[in-house]
Amino acid sequence: MSVGENLNEIQERVSRSAEKFGHRWEDIHLVAVTKFVDRDKIQEAIDWGIREVGENQVQEIERKMDFFQGARIHMIGQLQSNKVRKLTRGVTLIQSIDRKSLLKEMDRIGKRENIIFKGLIQVNNAREEGKGGIYKEDLPALLDYIEGLDHIQIEGLMNIAPFLDDVEEVRPYFRDMRNLFEKIQKISYNQIKMNILSMGMTHDYEVALEEGANMVRIGRAIFGERDYSK
Ligand SMILES: *Cc1c(COP(=O)(O)O)cnc(C)c1O
Repeated sequence: MSVGENLNEIQERVSRSAEKFGHRWEDIHLVAVTKFVDRDKIQEAIDWGIREVGENQVQEIERKMDFFQGARIHMIGQLQSNKVRKLTRGVTLIQSIDRKSLLKEMDRIGKRENIIFKGLIQVNNAREEGKGGIYKEDLPALLDYIEGLDHIQIEGLMNIAPFLDDVEEVRPYFRDMRNLFEKIQKISYNQIKMNILSMGMTHDYEVALEEGANMVRIGRAIFGERDYSK
């Protein structure tokens, strides 16, 4: 199937699953994850109407900047503090914020460049080792820390669920994220808003949408299996 055909099918599925939560298609940000995807296929996605793309490496964002033609760019991979300075132009949302040291560097660079970084806090609510994301119990302290930083604006939360064959088993993790999202929404912060809940990938996006995600990050279902040899 072509990228366009895949996207037509995904649009239908996204709409159907989102409706179960009370969202409409227009409420959902569909981020096309373009890692390991070549220019022609990215072009097909843009032609179809994709307006948001995700990459997990800083140098790939730099290399593909022209391919994206003004689409909003999301940094979705683990971010080293020393790469922050390369993300001052062209990146809409840094989705993988998960620690103080990173925030401190973002705030420093933001001050220097006179910009405000926008991002999501990545939460590892399944406590999977080796994965990015903050543990839930450490979240309140991080939020308090962010309130003291002038060059950071938090727009919501991001989550990567455990990869389990039976997607029903990941539903509780998505539900837990939704509860956390709503809990933080009720607290009045200056620098922290809860507008975006980014969760769900090819394997589990339908369940994530049913549980209230309003942003999904989809790669393989759009572009096919990734060719890591390139
Ligand atoms: C690769 C990636 C995705 C997309 O995964 P697919 O299985 O290709 O849909 C989503 N989020 C993050 C953080 C990723 O690294």
